[in-house]
Amino acid sequence: MKIPVLYYHKIDNPEKNAVLKGLYVTPSQFEMQMKILKFLGFSTITPDDLLFFLKGHKMQVRKPVVITFDDGYENNYIHAFPILKSYGFTATVFISTRFIGRKNAVLEEKGKESWPEDFLGEKEILELSDYGITIGSHGLNHYFLDELEKNVVAKELIASKAYLEGFLKKNVCFFSYPYGRYNANVMEAVKNAGYKGAFTTGRGKVAAYDNAFELKRIPVNGYNTVFNFLYKIIFLQ
Ligand SMILES: [Zn+2]
Repeated sequence: MKIPVLYYHKIDNPEKNAVLKGLYVTPSQFEMQMKILKFLGFSTITPDDLLFFLKGHKMQVRKPVVITFDDGYENNYIHAFPILKSYGFTATVFISTRFIGRKNAVLEEKGKESWPEDFLGEKEILELSDYGITIGSHGLNHYFLDELEKNVVAKELIASKAYLEGFLKKNVCFFSYPYGRYNANVMEAVKNAGYKGAFTTGRGKVAAYDNAFELKRIPVNGYNTVFNFLYKIIFLQ
């Protein structure tokens, strides 16, 4: 068995002149995708459950899936959270902590992603966490970690974890690499910072005994039709 880990960014209807429209999955697309997962008999599991599977243990549920969101957009709370709740699903949200509570802020200053968005505030993150959504770190500043000095990488990993743990009063054990950028040194640093696992943008499903700091995911984007989604869930290895 292999386990699909889906990853999303924004759950919203893009404005007409928005950039990188693929990062937007509309609320109605998202609802349809959750309906499909439910219909096919999938159960959502947490990254902790995934670690248990990685170690070679048998899963309690027949068709596990992990749903993740990167960056920490407020639209995850506004649009995705009610839909997840209505299907009894859980998910994981990876947050770049410098953006917490920022409105109309631009994630990437290098101009790669220049469309301003609203980001989750502490109160919303707490509510997600209280419901059972796993909160993970996506770094402090959403930097390319493979291009930074060792001490800067360590700060990105340690300070973001500490910040989240400070107000959640829970351990933050999982990381997702901004832009999917990492190398052996970054992986080592993630491990040393006290995380138990990290998610990449490497495409594919997770198999038992995979490296916990190099977990593959399957991107879901706004251009995906129902057939694309079914393909990704069922056939993609
Ligand atoms: Zn990101």
